Formats: sequence, C-alpha cells, structure tokens
Amino acid sequence: MGKNLKALRQEIDDINLSILDLINKRTLLLQQIGKLKDEYSMEYFDTEREAKMLENIFNHNRGPLYNELVKDIFNSIFSSSLKYMGITREKKLLVSSKSQEKFKTIREIFDLPDDSPIIVAGPCAVENIEYLEKIARFLRDKNIRFIRAGAYKPRTSPYDFQGMREDGLKILHDVAKEYQLYTITEVVDTRDVELVSKYVDVLQIGARNMQNFELLKEAGRSTRPVLLKRGISATIQELMCAAEYVVVNGNRNVILCERGIRTFETKTRNTLDISAVPIIKKETGLPIIVDLSHSLGRKDIIKSIACAVLAAEADGIMVEVHPYPELALSDSKQQLNLEEFDDLLSSINRNVNVLK
Ligand code: PEP
Ligand code: MN
Repeated sequence: MGKNLKALRQEIDDINLSILDLINKRTLLLQQIGKLKDEYSMEYFDTEREAKMLENIFNHNRGPLYNELVKDIFNSIFSSSLKYMGITREKKLLVSSKSQEKFKTIREIFDLPDDSPIIVAGPCAVENIEYLEKIARFLRDKNIRFIRAGAYKPRTSPYDFQGMREDGLKILHDVAKEYQLYTITEVVDTRDVELVSKYVDVLQIGARNMQNFELLKEAGRSTRPVLLKRGISATIQELMCAAEYVVVNGNRNVILCERGIRTFETKTRNTLDISAVPIIKKETGLPIIVDLSHSLGRKDIIKSIACAVLAAEADGIMVEVHPYPELALSDSKQQLNLEEFDDLLSSINRNVNVLK
C-alpha cells in the first residue's frame, strides 16, 4: 500500500511537470500571436476566441471532471497567460489617458484665447425672452462666453414645468446670437438630437440620461460638442464608458461634468465628488467642468466651493443664474440672482489669481 501511494504520487508529480511544460509552451505560442497582432494592430483580447476555445474543450471533455470545473481550470490558465502578457480583459477606452488619443480642450473646441476657467451660466430653463436677454447682456458685459438654459426639462414630477421645447430653443438661439454667446441646452430624446443641434452649440446630456445608450450614440453622430453630466449614482468609470459611447460613434468633442452624486447626506442636494475632478484629469484626456448649482442645491456655500473646484483644476464651472430666482419655474432655491452671480465672479477672480 505504502509503495503504491509513493508510485501514484510520482505519477502525479510527472503529470504536474507535463502540465507545467504545456502551459509554458502555450504561453510561448501566445507571445508569437501577440507579435502578429501588433503587426496587424489587432486587439489582444478576443472574447469570441476565448468562448470558442472553451467550447472546443467541452466537446472533447471525456471526464471525470465535468465542464464547469474544466472551465475554472482553463479560465485560470487564460487569466495567467493574459497577466503574463500584460493584457487586460477590458477593452482599452479611447477616452482613457492610457490610449494615445488626443482630445481638444474646451478653449480649443471653441477657438477661445487665454486659459482662464470656462464659466457656463444661465437659468435652469428658458422661461421667456425678457429674462434670457437680461442674463445674456450681463454675461456679455462680463466677458463670459457660454449661456445655458433648458428647453426640455427632465422633471421628477410630470406635473412640474416641462420646458418650452422648440419655442425655448428658438429664444435661446436668437438671444445668444444677439449677444454673441455659445449655447448649451439639454437634449432628452434621440428624436430631438437633430432639432436641438440646429439651434444650439452644445448638446447637454443630463444626469438622468447618462446611461441612455441610444441617446449617447445619437449624440455621437452629431457634429455638436457634447456636455455629458455624471449620473446621480454613476461611478467615474461608468461616466468614462458613457463618454466612450459618444466618442466611438464619431464625436470627439465631449466635455464631462461632475454634478454631485446621491449619498445619505441631506445638507446639500447632492454630494459633490470633488475628487472626481483630478481623477478624471488623470485618467482621461477629456475636459471636465463642475455644475455647482445641481450639486449643492444651495447658494450660501457656492463661493468657497467654486474656488475649491478650480483649485482641483476643473476646466470650468456651471452655475444657474436667473434675474428673479424667486419667480423661477424650476430650481428656484439654487439659482443666483445677477448681483449674487457678480459677487461669485469677483470671488473667483480674486482667488484664481492667488491660485496661479
Ligand atoms: C440641468 O443642468 O438643467 C440639469 C437638469 O442637470 P442634471 O442633469 O445634472 O440634474
Ligand atoms: Mn436646474
């Protein structure tokens, strides 16, 4: 019996060495394949090929190990080989800074001089031409180039103001033309992308639609730059994947926007994830701005947070501004009046000089 065990163990040891030999042989073959793939600029990792190999293995499995266990073993072999080759299973994102892709800054997209932070301001929604003109005149006088205003409002309640739709787009377009401003407005439906693109300069995809993949694809086919907001419960990686949808469909001008995420905290409307700013700067080649109004939902701390966001090297900020916030049809509490906005601008100007 003792002798028998020893002999059996010897046989196992021999098999182990044979398996090891074969696995190493397999790795050498993989290296050769890697070189060929380099020559033809092919992706290293191929999900379909992996599935086919497993299928072939299953078809030849004579047991006693059943397929599920065989799969575990081979998955581990596949993973180790990939690890050895430095290959990850995930496809490399074009928007990732690991790719060699170069994306334009906001100033490059719009051919704007100097490198001061971009400020996007305007009411939550287009309500009438008079209000929008008041804001536009103020922005022009302050040398601010971007006006925002929603014409299609994604509201929590269907009974709340839903936006002026095409009439709102026309007002935004005409006012911006008169005051020579670039316009940003939200598009909520694939069917509206073409229409909205006719009237405005930047298509905003809102937090609620960050993972509306059909809308992302349609925006990817548009020639208008896209401002893509982070979803209320989206990770940074998910935001990057959403941006990838736009880029891979042909539109390279994507501007990301951190606008707070939902947490247990109730003192602010959402929790501004300020660390997302330097992480996105590090991990993607895309510009990022921060929407102070929708993240904070309050005005009293906006000055210090604006400075913090710019210190974190955001490319710009977005702020809701309304001539009479108390009369606003949406987000009345968080919108700054013109005087408060002016005060914010002075504070930024003072502090940005210090930051430089
Ligand atoms: C907005 O900017 O008008 C808006 C609705 O923002 P969010 O999608 O971030 O909630
Ligand atoms: Mn709003």
